[in-house]
Amino acid sequence: MKEIKSIAALASRFGMLPGVGRKTALRYAHAVIDFTEQDVEAFCAALKEVKNSVRLCKVCGNYTDDEVCDLCASRQTKQICVVSYPKDVTAIERTGAFDGVYHVLHGTLSPMNNRTPDDLNIKSLLPRLSDAEEVIIATNPDVEGEATAVYLARLLKPLGVKVTRIAQGISMGSELEYADAVTLSQALGRRTAL
Ligand SMILES: [Zn+2]
Repeated sequence: MKEIKSIAALASRFGMLPGVGRKTALRYAHAVIDFTEQDVEAFCAALKEVKNSVRLCKVCGNYTDDEVCDLCASRQTKQICVVSYPKDVTAIERTGAFDGVYHVLHGTLSPMNNRTPDDLNIKSLLPRLSDAEEVIIATNPDVEGEATAVYLARLLKPLGVKVTRIAQGISMGSELEYADAVTLSQALGRRTAL
């Protein structure tokens, strides 16, 4: 059977999403055919709205639709939890075990992929340290996450702030995002000084 161009085109768009393979992308494209006209319009509008309204919090780098995110606006700033990605903030918030603020690096250091400290959101962390008593590093427990933690500890400790790393209750090589809430909150509770 000849491929229908518009379906193939839409499927290739869905294929841009993380975790969506060819089969799933095609299933999604077929599902859109059954959408009402209104559903399709709402879908397009939602895509545009996210793209136009979401930006990075100017304090912590997390996603927000304001200048400063809700968490920065309302939380105590004694503890700053440093994570690689906005999805890690979501994972830690799900545990309910942390009431401080975050700092989102938007990546990890990776010599293999030529990602240096200048490519990460690190500079804006430094002015935040004046109010902070502890920086908790919660990068993923994999090679890049560890390298990033070591780099940050070396950078921050001479500035007089306590630097800790979440415990390795999460197994090496796994991602924070997929850790269950109990494991993650235990890892937060049992952190070690760097
Ligand atoms: Zn923020």
